[in-house]
Amino acid sequence: MSKTIRTALESWDVKNEDAKVYEIASALFPFCRSITGDGLRNSLRTLQKYVALALHEVPTGTQVFDWTIPKEWNIRDAFIKDSNGKRVVDFQNSNLHVVNYSVPVNQKLRLKELQNHVFTLPASPDRIPYRTSYYNETWGFCMSHREWESLPDQEYEVCIDSTLEPGHLTFGEFRLQGTTDDEVVFSAHSCHPSLCNDNISGMAVATRLAKHLAEVPLRYSYRFLWVPATIGTIAWLALNESVIPRIKHGLVLSSVGDPGRFTYKRSRQGSAEIDRAVEHVLRSSGSEFELREFTPYGCDERQYCSPGIDRPVGCFSRTPNEEYPENHTSADNLNFVTAPALAESVQRLLAVVDLLEHNHRYLNLNTKCEPQLGRRGLYAQFGGKGGRLFNEAVVWLLNFSDGKHSLLDIADRSKVEFGRLVEAAEVLVANGLLQKLELSDG
Ligand code: ZN
Repeated sequence: MSKTIRTALESWDVKNEDAKVYEIASALFPFCRSITGDGLRNSLRTLQKYVALALHEVPTGTQVFDWTIPKEWNIRDAFIKDSNGKRVVDFQNSNLHVVNYSVPVNQKLRLKELQNHVFTLPASPDRIPYRTSYYNETWGFCMSHREWESLPDQEYEVCIDSTLEPGHLTFGEFRLQGTTDDEVVFSAHSCHPSLCNDNISGMAVATRLAKHLAEVPLRYSYRFLWVPATIGTIAWLALNESVIPRIKHGLVLSSVGDPGRFTYKRSRQGSAEIDRAVEHVLRSSGSEFELREFTPYGCDERQYCSPGIDRPVGCFSRTPNEEYPENHTSADNLNFVTAPALAESVQRLLAVVDLLEHNHRYLNLNTKCEPQLGRRGLYAQFGGKGGRLFNEAVVWLLNFSDGKHSLLDIADRSKVEFGRLVEAAEVLVANGLLQKLELSDG
């Protein structure tokens, strides 16, 4: 039998899946990503080792809806040296030490003057904060409050060897053609430096999911996007307006690597098929989860769900960003995300895709009273639990397969498990009692 999503899930090799996704996260960790520049570009090139994504370059100054692609930022080195020439802050130890998008600087400052350019977290004195200055040309350093407090009052040499010049914004894209052109989009923001749950987790999980889907036959077409948050998604939408109507379902992947419970934020449409599919998968998993209504805050679902775009795109997370104390600090590292949490996210998303792929509508071909199932060998009279469950799936399918109700509609109404309905529907089709409708049929 050829490989399907179902067989991939049934033969899930926990140890191997855990190791594979964690390897990708680890490979992405060192890069100093930003909304533009080589850190982002080289991260996407690294992902090309795992899946054949394409890199796209959008030139500085390109107008994308109400926004303009900014200058490209690149950084080679940065430090603060004390009067003995010792690096007391060193970019080579952590890329969080430099305010992301800092303009170049090379000067000598007293501690008091330096203070205006240093950010710390007094409440978490051992963590380095993450700060950006994307749309405001300035410079700064981030360091642990404990290290800052230990600096004596003397003259310091500060250097940021960066450039902020016309260049490009890079994003990654991988598309799988299905039997229809209708698309499912998975989008992961890819613009934070060494921060694992916030950005690396979504990038790695999207990559593994793409790899799995590349190995199976698909009904929908799938598009994976690795984009800088906000500006990257706006750029993609502005440059692909003709594709937007074909997006039938979508998920933004964010914070999918911490061991917390799953959290799903519904699309603006609220009860779109993707919203109900994710809810069904999380409910069937038996683990704790949380569902939230759409809000115009959060990740890139804000762009997909803006009123003029309004695609059914929700946000799939474990603990959402800004709701765990490690977020936007050096504590969001490779110890905070775990291999099992990352791999379980891939597994749930595969189950969501499996549901979308099988969520057909069927037409009952024998609608006047019930068909005689016994004559066809379909009535499991003495069949025990399995037989009773099969009969239950059959009677619900026959009653609601009027061409209007999908399998998910029937699953939600009957509480019969989705996979059982899929299997029973295939049997009824083989016996000439149901006809499968295609996406285009109504
Ligand atoms: Zn963030």
